Amino acid sequence: MKKPRFQTPSGMRDILSEELTYYQKIFDICQKMADFYGFERIETPILEQTELFSRGVGQATDIVKKEMFSFKTKGGDELTMRPEGTAPVARAYIEEGMRSRPQPVKLWYFGPFFRHEKPQRGRYRQFWQFGFEVLGEASPVIDAQIIQLFFNILGALKFKDLAVKINSIGCSTCRPRFKRILSSYLRNRASSLCSECRRRLKESSWRVLDCKEEKCQAVINNAPQMLDYLCEICHKHFKSVLEFLDELSIPYILEPHLVRGLDYYTKTVFEIVEMGKEGKSFGTLVGGGRYDNLVKILGGGVVPGCGGAAGVERIIEAMKERGVKVSSPSSPKIFLCQLGTLAKRKSLVLIERFQENKIPIAELLSKDSLRVQLERANKMGAKYVLIMGQKEALEDKIIIKDMATGRQKLVEIKKVINEIKKQLKK
Ligand code: ATP
Ligand code: MG
Repeated sequence: MKKPRFQTPSGMRDILSEELTYYQKIFDICQKMADFYGFERIETPILEQTELFSRGVGQATDIVKKEMFSFKTKGGDELTMRPEGTAPVARAYIEEGMRSRPQPVKLWYFGPFFRHEKPQRGRYRQFWQFGFEVLGEASPVIDAQIIQLFFNILGALKFKDLAVKINSIGCSTCRPRFKRILSSYLRNRASSLCSECRRRLKESSWRVLDCKEEKCQAVINNAPQMLDYLCEICHKHFKSVLEFLDELSIPYILEPHLVRGLDYYTKTVFEIVEMGKEGKSFGTLVGGGRYDNLVKILGGGVVPGCGGAAGVERIIEAMKERGVKVSSPSSPKIFLCQLGTLAKRKSLVLIERFQENKIPIAELLSKDSLRVQLERANKMGAKYVLIMGQKEALEDKIIIKDMATGRQKLVEIKKVINEIKKQLKK
């Protein structure tokens, strides 16, 4: 087949109705969890000032260095299509004066994000994330609650063998010393690192730990661990988080080299993965952590925060792989057939009465052939078919046919809604 002249940009796709039922299902579960745990919904703009991300997420991160869709507007503004949701939420927290509300402020979002990555399975240039953020609270119990919340959402989506990978990456007190020790360790092994990581050594050796190249894994696995260098406050915080997770019976794996690809994290970082058969993971479904410096970096004073974000496409792909189906919204049980101009006119009005009464009804008003209309009603699996022929239209009547029994009943048009309501109740 000839390729169509216009196609979606690389890494971006149309999401059709059947696929959208998955998005809807996930959204509904998020909404329920948000209501239960007291999170308010927020939707921030797709575009933000580029500097929000270069400062917030960090100059040296892959997201900012390689993955952002950034451009200059005709008015000369430097804007970026949001690659993640935490920095925009923190920006909104400051801009909307949420610091003067009772703390903590709990917010959640669900929407599209953009990263210029190499498109592949589970990795797109436009993808959807939902995220939950808690601002204005430093207690480790929040870290555990955030993890619990994502765990519950995935549980409600019938995920089973979930594991939390968790680490602490310290704070501005303890991290600098560790970074120096890590740097010298990595520099001594530069020849065993990929070219990208050798470049990273110059400005942000820390980011080597986030490298996914096979070549670098041996060096990373033997690298010094932040956990051994945590200051007392960070150490205590991490210990509490783990104790809370134990309390909640959430299985976790200590990952001493997990740093996550964003610079704003402090203390706790985590990822949630599903372990497939043979311990094989389907990739990271959720990523998150604590970000006690982010609001300050963005000019909003000292406000601790903690949150996470989940990749909707990855969740859907994992659901499909495991054969989890979501039911599509039930199709109408009633089909209206019409024959002749008068019947068509009266049908047009009748449909509106069904609409007002919130009873879904299907039709093919644009078709004249009764055969074609009945075929569609059959295909749809309609339980009741309403038939208005020329004669019925003249007498203001309509036939109700019960498709299961084949029984027919002639009723006045003005009584048909009540009649159908009675039938549907049975
Ligand atoms: P990865 O290490 O897989 O690149 P990440 O650390 O960049 O992930 P986050 O920024 O923490 O991911 O985003 C949270 C979640 O969003 C990820 O765990 C993943 O499920 C999803 N995600 C991230 N990037 C993409 C993408 N390009 N396409 C689809 N989903 C994505
Ligand atoms: Mg990434």
